[in-house]
Amino acid sequence: MRILISADMEGATGVTWPADVLPGAPQWERCRSMFTSDVNAAVLGFFDGGADEVLVNEAHSTMRNLLLEQLDERVEMLTGRHKSLSMVEGVQHGDVDGIAFVGYHAGAGMEGVLAHTYLANSVTGVWLNDVRASEGLLNAHVVAEYGVPVVLVTGDDVACEDALGYAPEALKVAVKDHISRYAAVCRTPARTAADIRAAAKAAAGLAVRQEPLDGGPFTVAVEFDAEHLAMAATVVPGVARIGERKIAYTSATMYEGIRTFKAVTTIVAAAIEEQYG
Ligand SMILES: [Zn+2]
Repeated sequence: MRILISADMEGATGVTWPADVLPGAPQWERCRSMFTSDVNAAVLGFFDGGADEVLVNEAHSTMRNLLLEQLDERVEMLTGRHKSLSMVEGVQHGDVDGIAFVGYHAGAGMEGVLAHTYLANSVTGVWLNDVRASEGLLNAHVVAEYGVPVVLVTGDDVACEDALGYAPEALKVAVKDHISRYAAVCRTPARTAADIRAAAKAAAGLAVRQEPLDGGPFTVAVEFDAEHLAMAATVVPGVARIGERKIAYTSATMYEGIRTFKAVTTIVAAAIEEQYG
């Protein structure tokens, strides 16, 4: 049994504030070990449950946050940027039996700790076939095309609730309960590690590869906080402006859909000005 863990940071234990997840910030240095603790707990749980191989794919920011030296020695870790499937890189080779979304968070426009979709503030909403989409929902549709079930989701309480929509069967562990976008009632790393390890062990039982799902076409709509960002996004072929601050495109597969989304957010990120957005 081979497990892939997609590890994002905003939904990690103890994280509630932008500096907690900002590479280089003193609080980020501290929170890295709690993030690593969450991931390692999932790794241990999957091995407890019978996994033969676990690959961790770093999925936050520059994708260089986890402390490799603190992970269980049986694991392998994919770290660093520029991967064709980004947050779920590694799922496309036909050998993954189940995927875990660890440290995931609510999407742009939702409640929840550090809620966003790819870009921190400039994206104010994303919809996939008219359903409001988080990163978890988008990635769940990508991995379904490879027949890989989402078996475990960890994050705040809102991320877990969101996962009910895209992975109803998956085990969920809320490591904190949101109070606002920047505040949460947090549980200690020791406690969340025990919860995550137990859930991952049970989740290993759900890791059974399925028939690849051909669920397309997929229409993705993205709303921005400034109109020039919508205009900037239209340089991506196939992307059309559907409102003052909104664009949309349609892809036959979610593989293309997520890659176009990446292109849109990369172009838009380059068009954001420091003061005026
Ligand atoms: Zn994220």
